[in-house]
Amino acid sequence: MADRPYIVGNWKMHGTRAMLAEARAIDRAAERLMKVEVALAPPFTLIHATRKEASLIGVGAQDCHPADGGAHTGDISAAMLKDAGAGFTIVGHSERRADHGEKDADVRAKADAAIAAGMNVIVCVGETEAQRDAGKAESVVAEQLKGSLPVDDDVDGKVTVAYEPVWAIGTGRTPTVEDIGAMHRSIRKVLQGIYGEEEGAKVRILYGGSVKPDNAAELLAADEVGGALVGGASLTAESFLGIIVAAAEAQEG
Ligand code: PEP
Repeated sequence: MADRPYIVGNWKMHGTRAMLAEARAIDRAAERLMKVEVALAPPFTLIHATRKEASLIGVGAQDCHPADGGAHTGDISAAMLKDAGAGFTIVGHSERRADHGEKDADVRAKADAAIAAGMNVIVCVGETEAQRDAGKAESVVAEQLKGSLPVDDDVDGKVTVAYEPVWAIGTGRTPTVEDIGAMHRSIRKVLQGIYGEEEGAKVRILYGGSVKPDNAAELLAADEVGGALVGGASLTAESFLGIIVAAAEAQEG
């Protein structure tokens, strides 16, 4: 596993150019917090400007189209995102799976396209509340991983998994630290089954779902958690930096 915790902000469909001030403030603070790898995924419209404003943090997208180009009105290809300054893209977020009917095969096609374009990917997986209540959380997530992860022999650094229980996103509810640890251990096993012991051990697994400055230290300390994917609390520099500082302090022990 990579040493530095990876803290990624997903701005979702939030942000006009006025929000670049938040990106600038996050980037300036990142200079003092080099123990943490920080990245932002703003909406498409802000990727280029964020890349220009921020020199230390990673900048990425929230989705891409699987095709290189063509008659796909309103869509954006991985190569276009890379050209705009994106170094990675999130794929398979549960909001895209729900709002756009994306299936595991679509997510894999997007991940493959992003890697082929020279970008890294964060592949999101996570169970619904009904699936957890039915005792199926780990099997559902395992199936999502098997269907969504890119097929590549050399995934080190290119692929990150984000475990985001659907019921924890934007709700203020989180699984227990024990449940997060159990799920992340289960994800690790699946990753090693897919990519082999050594490669599978290197893939970072982020936790996402209502991570805030006041619960970040506890959630980041769960077993096999290599960082966090943060929605709502990444929208202001103040709250996002609270999470980044918690991650940096955890590194210091
Ligand atoms: C997300 O949407 O990726 C997310 C984790 O959102 P929130 O932090 O707001 O729960």
